[in-house]
Amino acid sequence: MLHPELIDLVFELTKEGHYADIVTNGTLEKKFDELIEKLDDEQKKHLFIKFSFHYLELKKRNKMDEFVGNVNKIKISGISYSIEITPHDELVPFINEVKEFSIRQFGALPHITVARNEGTDEISLLTSYNREEYNNIWSQFNSELFRFKLSIFNQSRKCDFCYAGLWSLAVDLESGLYSQCYGGDVLGNFKNLDKPINFRAIGKCRLPHCFNGHAFLACGDIPELTTPFYYEERDREMITGEHWFKPEIRKFFSSKLYESNKVYDEFQKKKVMRLNNIMHIVCIGGRIKRHIVSLCKR
Ligand code: SF4
Repeated sequence: MLHPELIDLVFELTKEGHYADIVTNGTLEKKFDELIEKLDDEQKKHLFIKFSFHYLELKKRNKMDEFVGNVNKIKISGISYSIEITPHDELVPFINEVKEFSIRQFGALPHITVARNEGTDEISLLTSYNREEYNNIWSQFNSELFRFKLSIFNQSRKCDFCYAGLWSLAVDLESGLYSQCYGGDVLGNFKNLDKPINFRAIGKCRLPHCFNGHAFLACGDIPELTTPFYYEERDREMITGEHWFKPEIRKFFSSKLYESNKVYDEFQKKKVMRLNNIMHIVCIGGRIKRHIVSLCKR
């Protein structure tokens, strides 16, 4: 929400009929007012806000009322939302307090994600608990997001064929560069909007595991995998019977990418894999060349 062009960007995307998700810590009151004011009812149906709920930090900084106020503001506006906690060991003694607070203020328990340690080669769990203890502690929240994310955590996807790069892209909105996925090849730049998008499926995943599979895999990037729908990992039914997700967003995120895209046969998969191997070497070569040029300039 800090970026000065974020609201304009969401306005343009939703005006074109795209669905958007803003991830926020929920503290910038004026930005929420501006967002609600700017979007019409149809655009609001295409947006959901993911509130990252930093319980201890909000208390420490005296920002809890602001956070709750912003969640309520979004709720009244008709925009869908989801409340999510990134689990951390320091929060464990406060779990009952967090649960009680959440039911009272949000009508439901928050969803729980899985924290990862990107400083390790295998991208391990960020906790001092073992996996079983971690599961026992955080599954108390009965979150489908947590259940699915932990179930695929540390599972290599190298033997599957992933359509990231063809059915989904990782886009850097600052530079305009788009790539197949994290760790995938850069496919192009959105600065030249007249150029067709250079889609190319990654096929074989290059990461130790799909740590954001709650999005990519739940949306269907690997059709053979059985996964929940994305809305199931985000929505909650409140004690009043209402839902955090409104019907339009629920419907959109109840679909899989393979329902609206063509799946490759084995021959096409092999062809794409061969092309990927060649292009990957070209990409690495390009990166080395740029690095040498920048060193020479210094
Ligand atoms: S991280 Fe997930 S979505 Fe990306 S290539 Fe690997 S399996 Fe596919």
